[in-house]
Amino acid sequence: MFDKTKRIVVVTGGSRGIGRAICIALAGSDTHVYFSYATSRESADKTEKLISDAGGTATTACVDVASEAAVKTFFDSIIQETGRIDVLVNNAGITRDGLIAMMKEKDWDEVIDTNLKGAFHCTRAVAKTMIKQRYGRIINISSVVGVIGNPGQANYVASKAGIIGLTKAVAKELAPRGITVNAVAPGYVETDMTASLPEKAKAAMLDQIPLGRAGTPQDVAAVVGFLASEQASYITGQVIHVSGGMFI
Ligand code: NAP
Repeated sequence: MFDKTKRIVVVTGGSRGIGRAICIALAGSDTHVYFSYATSRESADKTEKLISDAGGTATTACVDVASEAAVKTFFDSIIQETGRIDVLVNNAGITRDGLIAMMKEKDWDEVIDTNLKGAFHCTRAVAKTMIKQRYGRIINISSVVGVIGNPGQANYVASKAGIIGLTKAVAKELAPRGITVNAVAPGYVETDMTASLPEKAKAAMLDQIPLGRAGTPQDVAAVVGFLASEQASYITGQVIHVSGGMFI
């Protein structure tokens, strides 16, 4: 039987990188973390072990956030099991970089469908439950480039700017029901997503960071942890930059 006194947290894309750090930051003896991944079961198992090491419990599922049906099945099963969802972190994201003149429609669609439509699917899936609870925390992972732009990433930048619009609209809509909705905009964070960037691009990015270093997944997770906490109950519709000052 599921322990119904536990706080229920859902993190999309928790198998690696920033999502994994968020899962660990939100884990604890009074919390159960559900997290999804797309392909990498081995990485998901590692996250599950790290959550357990942090004193928490977790359930993982392979869910493509771009699929309306898969997302519905995932959230229906959580709600059936627990009866509530306290925190949703829309973190799953991908890049398919390319210059606009050459960008393939497939690359545009995959990025928008995963990063933006995926957040829509998951937010819609928790909305009714959070409204009934008159409580919820939704935290969307955007990016500094969604605010300042970046050449070669029109699809990604559009998805991350869209996330900011989604955050603001849903924040206004759900505020009367006691639900806060905020975005976190990381800068350059060392994860698998950025590992394949050419050294020249990494150096150029570091040059733009006033604090002089790349971010860590833990830098981002700490802010997500705060936004999910009771101390953040009077903050909604905001974009919190965690970028070492890339955007000031
Ligand atoms: P990452 O290391 O590449 O990890 C991406 C995560 O998303 C993985 O868990 C992956 O699952 C999951 N995922 C990918 N496609 C998915 C899908 N269709 N459905 C469900 N899950 C999916 O990326 P990251 O750097 O941690 O990025 C996490 C978030 O932060 C993204 O939204 C990204 O845009 C944002 N961000 C990152 C940076 C940065 O510098 N790294 C900067 C700003 C914003 P699998 O393991 O199964 O592939």
